[in-house]
Amino acid sequence: MRRRVKLPILMYHKVDELRPGVRRVGNYVSPERFEQQMDALVESGYRSITVADWLAYRDGRAAHIPERPVIITFDDGYTCFARNAWPVLRARGLGALMFIVSGQIGGTNVWDADEPQERLLDAEQLCALQDEGVAFGAHSVTHPPLARIAPDRARDELRRSRERLEQVLGRAPDVFAYPYSNQSRTVRALAREAGYRAALRGGGRTSSRRTNPFGLYRIKVEPGWTAEELLGKLRRERMRIF
Ligand SMILES: [Zn+2]
Repeated sequence: MRRRVKLPILMYHKVDELRPGVRRVGNYVSPERFEQQMDALVESGYRSITVADWLAYRDGRAAHIPERPVIITFDDGYTCFARNAWPVLRARGLGALMFIVSGQIGGTNVWDADEPQERLLDAEQLCALQDEGVAFGAHSVTHPPLARIAPDRARDELRRSRERLEQVLGRAPDVFAYPYSNQSRTVRALAREAGYRAALRGGGRTSSRRTNPFGLYRIKVEPGWTAEELLGKLRRERMRIF
């Protein structure tokens, strides 16, 4: 019988100290805690793969996949990634997949009008990170909940963000992350039609090779989780039969 590999995809937003005035505190993980979590992953045998690696495994085109694969993702493109997360990942041989809001490259998180505004990576910074090995995916142009807007607008958000990232990075992204994890059957079909090969939602669980590549699950890492709690969550999800 084939080994049943489960893929946890971790979701982070800001790896930074909490700032005064923040409402969605759940989007922050402290740099110290992040480093402990990454050490724990490596010590427990987790190895970074790419979405392309996963699709190859899923389609039976890859002979090998690590026994404990992981994909570590960062939404929205905050500059704190470059300061606090990437050096930690790089030093441990871990990869990163960042999702960029193409209409706010070098801007701020204007879609979160009630939150303190944070700098987002600019085009030059994105290119430098890509040269160092960071992978990028699209996260729409303006960060709307795609299943709640007209399909024509959703199609436009999916297409134009892919085109813009291709202009900036020199390659069209294969992966999309649904803003607010908001998606539907229609939105998944539109993502496929826009040229992506996979798209990520929330859901708090791992994916198996039977999971729809346009509905890959992610586990949002909560600020309060210790490294042991993260590992415990991943252990329970590996055991789950589905
Ligand atoms: Zn987002």
